[in-house]
Amino acid sequence: MPGQSTALRKEPAAGERAGMRTGSYLSWGRYPKTIHSHVYKPAWDDQIPAIVKGASAGELLPYGMGRSYGDSCLNAQRALVDCRRLNRILGFDEATGVLRCESGASFAAIIEVFLPKGWFVPVTPGTKFVTVGGAIANDVHGKNHHCAGTFGAHVRQLGLHRSGEGPVFCSPSENAEMFRATIGGLGLTGVIAWADIQLRPVAGPWIDCELAPFESLAGFLDLSGESDGRFEYTVAWLDCFAGKKARGIFFRGNHAAEAGGKLRPKLGPKLPFALPAWVLNRGTVKAFNTAYYYAHAAKRGTTRVGYDSFFYPLDSLRQWNLLYGKQGFLQYQCVLPSANLAALEELLDRIAHSGMGSFLGVLKQFGTAPAAGMLSFPRPGLTLALDFAMRGERTLELLRSLDDVVWQSGGALYPAKDARMSSAMFESSFPRWRSFVPYIDPKMSSSFWRRVTGPQ
Ligand SMILES: Cc1cc2nc3c(=O)[nH]c(=O)nc-3n(C[C@H](O)[C@H](O)[C@H](O)COP(=O)(O)OP(=O)(O)OC[C@H]3O[C@@H](n4cnc5c(N)ncnc54)[C@H](O)[C@@H]3O)c2cc1C
Repeated sequence: MPGQSTALRKEPAAGERAGMRTGSYLSWGRYPKTIHSHVYKPAWDDQIPAIVKGASAGELLPYGMGRSYGDSCLNAQRALVDCRRLNRILGFDEATGVLRCESGASFAAIIEVFLPKGWFVPVTPGTKFVTVGGAIANDVHGKNHHCAGTFGAHVRQLGLHRSGEGPVFCSPSENAEMFRATIGGLGLTGVIAWADIQLRPVAGPWIDCELAPFESLAGFLDLSGESDGRFEYTVAWLDCFAGKKARGIFFRGNHAAEAGGKLRPKLGPKLPFALPAWVLNRGTVKAFNTAYYYAHAAKRGTTRVGYDSFFYPLDSLRQWNLLYGKQGFLQYQCVLPSANLAALEELLDRIAHSGMGSFLGVLKQFGTAPAAGMLSFPRPGLTLALDFAMRGERTLELLRSLDDVVWQSGGALYPAKDARMSSAMFESSFPRWRSFVPYIDPKMSSSFWRRVTGPQ
């Protein structure tokens, strides 16, 4: 790897976007509201050992861009290590496409530099405003899970700062268990300093995309089964007001085989402040869902679209999380074991009857790739993600009733999206979590971890 380093552009964190300052870092859902005792902002890798060694037990948690929805990136009353200034490209092998970068490098910046050279991130979540460290620590998945697995499957090696051992080099062959613990390890195994990522070759920035409406869950499954062998990316938007009927739009796409013309993604408008809570009510969300369904159901055939609008439609409205008002919102993402349509129907029925619909309803069939990390969330089955405005106990009660269905079906909840699951629900989602505990750095802790495993 060449030794020279290049600093990548810096984007604001979720908390800062919402006007919050040091000590008030938030997650994307803006719930819970958390105060931190201190935020370390190292600019250089060699500053981290002193921070980690000087901390007291359970004092620290690394922080990326705060794009986790709940409290897995928060450490109430304790300290964060904001890693976004550690954002340098350390090397790139043009023959193999292996990128070495610091953990604070964002997907947005990596794409900006490497897409023009014919390389794309191997797996991407629905926003490009995430860091490599955050993507590893949640072992994120994307629309290509059925053929590429999770982001962790494309990490070749990484450097980790641990309070006891100093810098630790981890890969599938060296410190292999620590490597598996760190992928999906929720930032608890130490501060990831850098990682080697296998990028994916592409001809250019364009995606050949097809849309297909469906009017039942069986229709969704048919489309998914028929598409997964032919399309690298598949996902569906679901109208959660339709109840068991479950209509939606299926999106599928492949990277275009030709370079095509240049694409200049534009920075979209920015929501300047939190909207009043009444703006997103049953009536407005239902109307939006109906309009969205009919607008897309009419579209037929293949369209060539830019990667930005295909992968990151939500990024086009910056700070869209402020739409949900001052109280913030919760995302509910579960996975249900394969073919458990009855459980999925029950979830949709309970949501429809609650009157608390979500305009973001995402459904995808995960593939069968083995988990890359000890606590990785994806597993074979159907994953459903929905946003709910935080309306206090009413919202929490609905989510608890959804938990009952997920629990009974043998499913799991995604920690990256969670702010309220019980320790029993966590235990049921990750029954082997105790075998992860020996890999936790004693200086690390998080609000999420204390909530689901008990006070430390
Ligand atoms: C619009 C939107 C769409 C999304 N779509 C998806 C999706 O499709 N699939 C999916 O899987 N997720 C999705 N997410 C969730 C998001 O991808 C993850 O939460 C991601 O981990 C956030 O990265 P981050 O850099 O913001 O990290 P943060 O949210 O700041 O932190 C996440 C975790 O990483 C740890 N961490 C951060 N940096 C380091 C480091 N240097 N060393 C060690 N640990 C570290 C933190 O301690 C924390 O546990 C989405 C989020 C949004 C807002």
